[in-house]
Amino acid sequence: MKALTWHGKSDVRCESVPDPKIQDGRDAIIKVTACAICGSDLHLFDGIMPTMEKGDVLGHETMGEVVEVGTHNTKLKVGDRVVVPFTIACGECFFCRNGFYSGCERSNPNAKQAEKLWGHSPAGLFGYSHMLGGFAGGQAEYMRVPYADVGPYRYQRDSRMSRCCSCQISSRQATWRPISATSKAERPLRYGAADRLANLQSRAHSCWALSG
Ligand SMILES: [Zn+2]
Ligand SMILES: [Zn+2]
Repeated sequence: MKALTWHGKSDVRCESVPDPKIQDGRDAIIKVTACAICGSDLHLFDGIMPTMEKGDVLGHETMGEVVEVGTHNTKLKVGDRVVVPFTIACGECFFCRNGFYSGCERSNPNAKQAEKLWGHSPAGLFGYSHMLGGFAGGQAEYMRVPYADVGPYRYQRDSRMSRCCSCQISSRQATWRPISATSKAERPLRYGAADRLANLQSRAHSCWALSG
């Protein structure tokens, strides 16, 4: 497949890379229909973020269509349209069970590296360095989604959500949550349209919409 890959400071290329494969029963593979370029990607583009490696696939705000699911994934099925949060969450650890998905203790296999630099490690992130897991991102034709029975938010192809690509909120508690979060404060997001987001007293990590 084709993907946008990082090769160093100010050096991003479109090149052929291996197609992603199911590696765990809870995985899904999505065909990417859109992926944002975030302000945070500038940290990668400018060479500020450590532990990037040549050939890493960028992109952490992705939506797409499910084309394959692992054998243990009972949430998603082929053909589902999903928005994929940039944090990867297992759904089972202490932090996930309490709704703090960005603190997932299990999704970053390289947590020790992040702890060395920051004192603690966040969850694994798509397309955002090896110390955050080394997960290939969504600036590609296809993307593997680990723990895909937790994070991805399904939407109807013809719903208003089909115009809202990715909205991931950094709340006042600095806890990143997917749009599917169900806390009282965030519930309006599930039913509101993208234009309502401006009314939220939260800081948007990224929020953008596109037609179709
Ligand atoms: Zn971002
Ligand atoms: Zn977890």
